[in-house]
Amino acid sequence: MHDVIIIGAGPAGLTAALYAGRFRLSTMVFERLSAGGQIILSPTIENYPGFPQGIATFDLIEKFKTQVEEVGVTMSSGEVMRFEPIVIGKQPCFTVVTEDASFESKSVIIAAGANPRRLGVKGEDALIGRGVSYCATCDAPLFKNKEVVIVGGGDRAIEEAIFLSGYCKKVMVVHRRAALRASKILEEKARAIATIEFVLEYVVEEVIGNQKVEAVALRKVSTGSVMRRDCDGVFICVGIEPNTGFIKNLLHLDAHGFIITDQTMQTSLSGVFACGDCRQKSLYQVVSACSDGAIAADSAHKYLLNL
Ligand code: NAP
Repeated sequence: MHDVIIIGAGPAGLTAALYAGRFRLSTMVFERLSAGGQIILSPTIENYPGFPQGIATFDLIEKFKTQVEEVGVTMSSGEVMRFEPIVIGKQPCFTVVTEDASFESKSVIIAAGANPRRLGVKGEDALIGRGVSYCATCDAPLFKNKEVVIVGGGDRAIEEAIFLSGYCKKVMVVHRRAALRASKILEEKARAIATIEFVLEYVVEEVIGNQKVEAVALRKVSTGSVMRRDCDGVFICVGIEPNTGFIKNLLHLDAHGFIITDQTMQTSLSGVFACGDCRQKSLYQVVSACSDGAIAADSAHKYLLNL
């Protein structure tokens, strides 16, 4: 019987693990693939305090992991398929079920993060891995000296544009509005790079290609007129979808599937806390994921003291 099982090892889950370990709670962390979560989609983190030059994402994750391991927390790989409340003796607790085993815990912290959202246009699904990508960090070298389109105007889209400009001959940022959503400092950086072109007030209507991406069909939002722009790759950065499918009807979620918590990270089910990108909140950043994780562990600790 663990004190706490943490589902997810991105910045929120790893910070929750660090705090839980320091509270000397018996803690287990599950991660589906490898530690890091969504931030591995970004090559560098520029706005995490303490690193004025920014820090390579991989290095930041390694530092998080080292700190967690030093407080004696067990990290396990495995996908959590479901969890449910049970009672053992008179004690309320939870069964957490992975692909091949089940575990008992007195409390659960969900830090399952989010995944890039699909654009949902013709050609997108068929050309994934054939020019359609959701991760510049992973795929940029495949597009050396090529021309690519980035879809979206948020932080990720502009970060990806800047990163890809180091590899590609040309990067076109296609955004549906005249103003970007990304932070101004990122926009200024991107606008200073001659090979980045902004195609504003257009949406991608179709990704065109037979065996690989050849072009996109762009529709002008105001007039509906459609034009073709040749390209070799399409990077889609249109927001995130929470990894909350395994929760089913157990917790209150919002209309988009994000977990609803109070300010202590308490979910609608006593003993279950949620933190990071899988919960409904106003700021999805590494620093706020870490803050969520610390609060969730503190709340779990207080919950366990009162059991
Ligand atoms: P985001 O900030 O939600 O931006 C999504 C962008 O995609 C917006 O510009 C949006 O347009 C556009 N979009 C959404 N649906 C679309 C559609 N169907 N067709 C065309 N365009 C569409 O998402 P994100 O950039 O992926 O970032 C996710 C979260 O992670 C954000 O909160 C972001 O701030 C955060 N993040 C943080 C860091 C960091 O801390 N360093 C780095 C990357 C991301 P509108 O603007 O018109 O809505």
